[in-house]
Amino acid sequence: MDFDFAASERAFISDVREFLTTHREQDEADGVFAPNREADSMLSDSAARRVFNQRLAKAGYLGMSWDEQYGGQARDGIYDYLLNEELASVGAPLIGKGVGCIGKTLINHGSERLKKEFLPQILRGETEFALGYSEPGAGSDLASLQLKAERDGEYWVFNGQKMWTTSAHFADWYWVAARTDPAAAKHKGISVFLIPMDAPGLRITEIRTMGDHRTNQVFFDDVRVHTDYLVGEENQGWLYVCEALDYERFTLYTIGPLRTKFEALVDLLKLTLRDGQPLTTKDSVRRGIARLACDVETATMLQRRVIAAALRGDVPTVEAAMCKLYSTELGRRLADFALDCLGPMGLLRRSAADAPAAGKWEHSYRATVVDTIGGGSSEIQKNIISRRGLGLPSK
Ligand SMILES: Cc1cc2nc3c(=O)[nH]c(=O)nc-3n(C[C@H](O)[C@H](O)[C@H](O)COP(=O)(O)OP(=O)(O)OC[C@H]3O[C@@H](n4cnc5c(N)ncnc54)[C@H](O)[C@@H]3O)c2cc1C
Repeated sequence: MDFDFAASERAFISDVREFLTTHREQDEADGVFAPNREADSMLSDSAARRVFNQRLAKAGYLGMSWDEQYGGQARDGIYDYLLNEELASVGAPLIGKGVGCIGKTLINHGSERLKKEFLPQILRGETEFALGYSEPGAGSDLASLQLKAERDGEYWVFNGQKMWTTSAHFADWYWVAARTDPAAAKHKGISVFLIPMDAPGLRITEIRTMGDHRTNQVFFDDVRVHTDYLVGEENQGWLYVCEALDYERFTLYTIGPLRTKFEALVDLLKLTLRDGQPLTTKDSVRRGIARLACDVETATMLQRRVIAAALRGDVPTVEAAMCKLYSTELGRRLADFALDCLGPMGLLRRSAADAPAAGKWEHSYRATVVDTIGGGSSEIQKNIISRRGLGLPSK
């Protein structure tokens, strides 16, 4: 049994590291590399970030797993995953929504018109997307969504609201699930659309989370979109949403930052003195560190199981649920342990001059909460594991 990557995959990892080292020396690096950022979803827009995306594109890192006829390289999905791990480890923006969820769904189901318009711009790293699934009454139970799309000649007219749309305030296009047949069963009357973020009638308002993360509410007031921008078939949207969420689970959840954070925490505890001794000489701290070292290794192995299943051609639903549940809760446990060790000083925010590690752990404590909610909450992952993985009856 070999848990390591193949030689070609290791060679790819070292190429990516070299690419990142070069780019960390560029002028705009500060706007792109943020090793202390808690999650990719906390990114904000910047010219530097867009330049970096275009550099990734030029180096051939976007669309690696797409078919050659769409400008890809027909490589295994593992390369997208390896790239994202390396990007995440240095706090650089991940390749995600465009190449993964949206690009792949368009390749599988989109019209020739949409493929022609969107695939080349995704490959060039030019376009930012926002994902519009959740609504005030539809999160875990997403199929209850109520945003209304009604046909009016050559147009669809949208009325209603989306909730929690990350990056809506700087995205170019909105990938939206809407109800097109209110009379059909709830999973059956949904369609997916691409809507320009500057469409008249679309209004975006900010929501600031406890983790200092900006997300948004988006209101639709008679927003008109040409029928060309319906993705795939009318009322088949649920299928596309589920497929896109599977891509998201495969490429968007990375373990690298957990390991980086764990190592940074151990270094900090070695340097932090209590009663004149480093914290790492205290039994309770040593026990906690040893436990977390095992947990980081467990998270890594759970993630390898997701990749192995995906590479076999299986949909890794249960593996991904285990990995997401475990790794996102581990992110919270790491921050919790850090604050326990640092004591009252650990509560200082980054604006305070004396904050240990420039307030990183106080921020991490607040910012990691969202990871256990977005993309399916911990409770939903437990439901998947118990029902689909263990065959327990539904309640
Ligand atoms: C910061 C942030 C960014 C986000 N970004 C996006 C985005 O870009 N696009 C997007 O579409 N969405 C986004 N989301 C929404 C996210 O996917 C939802 O918040 C999530 O799916 C949970 O839905 P909800 O908030 O409606 O909570 P609810 O579904 O109402 O759940 C409330 C509580 O009940 C529990 N619960 C619900 N159903 C069950 C059940 N069947 N069994 C057991 N427990 C259950 C949940 O675990 C949770 O604890 C974001 C959310 C946040 C907080």
